[in-house]
Amino acid sequence: MSYFRQSIENLKGYAPGFQPSDQTVVKLNTNENPYPPSPKVIEAIQRMSPDQMRRYPPAMGDAFREAAAELNGVTPGSILCCNGGDDLLTIAFRALCDENRAAAYPTPTYSLYSVLARLQNCPVKELPFDETFNLPNTLAGTGAALTIVCNPNAPSGSIIEAPEMRALAEKLKNRSILLIDEAYADFSKTKCTRLVDELDNVIILRSMSKGYSLAGLRFGYAIARPEIISELAKVKDSYNVNTVSIVAATAAIRDQDYFLSNVIKIKAERGRVTVALRKLGFDVPDSETNFVLAKCPSGNASALYEKLVKHNIFVRYFDLPRLTDKLRITIGTRQQNDALLAALGGAEAD
Ligand SMILES: *Cc1c(COP(=O)(O)O)cnc(C)c1O
Repeated sequence: MSYFRQSIENLKGYAPGFQPSDQTVVKLNTNENPYPPSPKVIEAIQRMSPDQMRRYPPAMGDAFREAAAELNGVTPGSILCCNGGDDLLTIAFRALCDENRAAAYPTPTYSLYSVLARLQNCPVKELPFDETFNLPNTLAGTGAALTIVCNPNAPSGSIIEAPEMRALAEKLKNRSILLIDEAYADFSKTKCTRLVDELDNVIILRSMSKGYSLAGLRFGYAIARPEIISELAKVKDSYNVNTVSIVAATAAIRDQDYFLSNVIKIKAERGRVTVALRKLGFDVPDSETNFVLAKCPSGNASALYEKLVKHNIFVRYFDLPRLTDKLRITIGTRQQNDALLAALGGAEAD
């Protein structure tokens, strides 16, 4: 006999990137920021009082809400604090999808979407991006209750410009929520924040994990009309963000100078790594994120992945359609990127 729901038994579950205990490895596999968080984050945590631990947190994370609202030019009522961007995805699926209400998204994309859809037992409309990662033109006509576009997309690093996203949202109006997953928008030239002013069916997802170096802390947020935020808030855990993470994430988002200087460094390295990989024979489309998706000259990305592991370098390989000849490589520090390029130069010569 089985104790669990059929959909749970059948589910493979989300496969997180490998987290080695050996701190000396060159870890370019989970799109973490290679730089530490702002020193102001550590100072803010150190200033916390025991009372802040004893008490429950402010349920809506007011301090962060205000800071994020200011930065994004919206009211605090337009922000929902979440325990990582992934928490917002869980909340959205629970609030919007069921057996009769489908989710739709272009693929290949973030693999968590399909896991959450199966948990929710909802129909899924997966529509392939074309060769150069343009939106499938049938995306507005799926009848789904929740349409997701990861923008910039993972693992392609590609971007859909704001006017095209606006056109999609307009077509979906009164029929579907459009959730724009902007986990990587900190590294891109395009953000769709302003669509929230114009349209009542748009939710923007942001993460503090990548641009702000806080993946271990777990903090992300939604930007949407207050009417949307209040519906999502009904579904969240009562205390979905903890007091330490509210204090830390607020200090991080208020230190824009530190944040921007890291983003500039990562974008510069992204350009350098892209050019160097192309010289080594990889096909590397321009990326709007903190990683690149590199097509291997040999076509055998799995073998190359193993060779890099032998050099103590970890990147991400996906055994999925359209991805078996590619490696997703996070942009690290200059030193880490040099180690990667040296190993690849050698590996290709093997
Ligand atoms: C990292 C990421 C998120 C959110 O991650 P959190 O660590 O939970 O904030 C959401 N979507 C995509 C595509 C991501 O890569």
